[in-house]
Amino acid sequence: MTMSPAPRSFEDNVTFYFDRAAAFTGHPKGLLDQIRACNSVHAFQFPVHQADGRIEVVRGWRAEHSHHKLPTKGGIRYSAAVDESEVKALAALMTYKCAVVDVPFGGAKGAVQIDPHTRAVEELERITRRYTHELAKKNLIGPGLDVPAPDAGTGEREMAWIADTYMALNPGLLDAMACVTGKPVTQGGIRGRKEATGRGLVYALRGACLQTDDMRSLGLSAGLDGKRVIVQGLGNVGYHAARFCREQGATVIAIVVPEGAILDVKGLDEDAVVEHRKRTGSILEFPGATSISRSVDALELDCDVLVPAALENQLTADNAPRIRAKIILEGANGPTTAEADEILRAKGTLVIPDIYANAGGVTVSYFEWLKNLSHVRFGRLERRLQAAAGRRLLHGIELATGKFFDDTDRASLVPVADELSIVNSGLEDTMVTAYQDIREALRRQPALRDLRTAAFFTAINKIARAYLELGIFP
Ligand code: NAD
Repeated sequence: MTMSPAPRSFEDNVTFYFDRAAAFTGHPKGLLDQIRACNSVHAFQFPVHQADGRIEVVRGWRAEHSHHKLPTKGGIRYSAAVDESEVKALAALMTYKCAVVDVPFGGAKGAVQIDPHTRAVEELERITRRYTHELAKKNLIGPGLDVPAPDAGTGEREMAWIADTYMALNPGLLDAMACVTGKPVTQGGIRGRKEATGRGLVYALRGACLQTDDMRSLGLSAGLDGKRVIVQGLGNVGYHAARFCREQGATVIAIVVPEGAILDVKGLDEDAVVEHRKRTGSILEFPGATSISRSVDALELDCDVLVPAALENQLTADNAPRIRAKIILEGANGPTTAEADEILRAKGTLVIPDIYANAGGVTVSYFEWLKNLSHVRFGRLERRLQAAAGRRLLHGIELATGKFFDDTDRASLVPVADELSIVNSGLEDTMVTAYQDIREALRRQPALRDLRTAAFFTAINKIARAYLELGIFP
């Protein structure tokens, strides 16, 4: 009996993607080995008091994949299934992601092996604060060392606890707030961070859909308007991806969550779906939609764009042949296994890869870090001055032409440069520029064949340049 080879692990998939792209770079083996290697992994086991007086030993990790730029940066995941290999895979993706979007950080990732959905808030707070102590004791957190952020299972609340704990351990440290990003706005966060990954995804999708030739070869019209989208996951990334797709004129025809999926070709409103789920405890039986009890089946429905925004390893050798989406927009980290990637490649599916597509989160985290270090809100100093200059210019045009602008024209011609609009415009610029870099790499070297390989190729070259300029590899 012939046995089919065991599927690669998530970590092996990342290494496979790296090696596939590295082969095109011509860099020496030693340099590529250093870029690929995870520089350090710390594993902790720490005690946490339960409400009933029992003591539970909790496992946690922090992997710092690359120190070619400092600080290192990466989210913290709370999941019962997480292990060291997954943390290393996620840390490596962070290194390549930061390079793709020119965010000057090395990659890192942290995790705590708990199911956050079954824990009381007080327990989560104790675990988060204790985990922060572990990081601090080992110099694995600090504005210039390593800066965590949210990932699956964590959010603004956990980031606020981390900042508060770090500040208590470092009284008077001026830049302490920059020790973590993704905080609530009232606790040193930045407007636009919570929705940044979803917003960035839709900028990435819009950019890809504007490539008329690519759309023609997929049999699709150019632009986002009317594209039929399926979103897997209704957490931070999935919810905001659905929202911005809808706002940009696409139709979210299905939403997929662990308990099943719902389909409505006329389009779903993500807020109404969230409200229904809160009220009934399930997404199923949403009024007007067809319920699908096995969530995996919904990934194979006919659509233009599939957005896996939940977990890694969702598109595999098993289901990839049946995936009908023409475009895969990777909201999650590592949703496509290397075997599935080969199948999708052969089918001509356009995969917009995680290390580019979901980089909006770390991009706006970078803006938050800059805000914390400068101790001033973006736009605070120049907003009024810019608005006055704009008004004076319009007035000059009115005097010269005799034509007067109405309030709508004025509002669009003199935009208010407040924090949110500055953040969103910086995010859009980052996503558009990175897409152009990747697309250009593919145009120059068609042998790269796809956007993922081109994204890894550009990331490896940027990191290699940083090492070479340090003189480590003359
Ligand atoms: P989250 O915890 O807010 O949401 C994840 C959602 O996925 C949950 O609602 C969960 O119920 C759902 N889910 C889990 N298994 C599923 C399944 N089999 N089918 C359908 N849904 C399932 O996490 P998040 O922050 O939205 O992160 C999601 C993914 O995006 C992760 O891979 C994460 O690493 C990646 N990511 C997150 C950010 C960020 O800023 N939060 C940035 C970049 C990448």
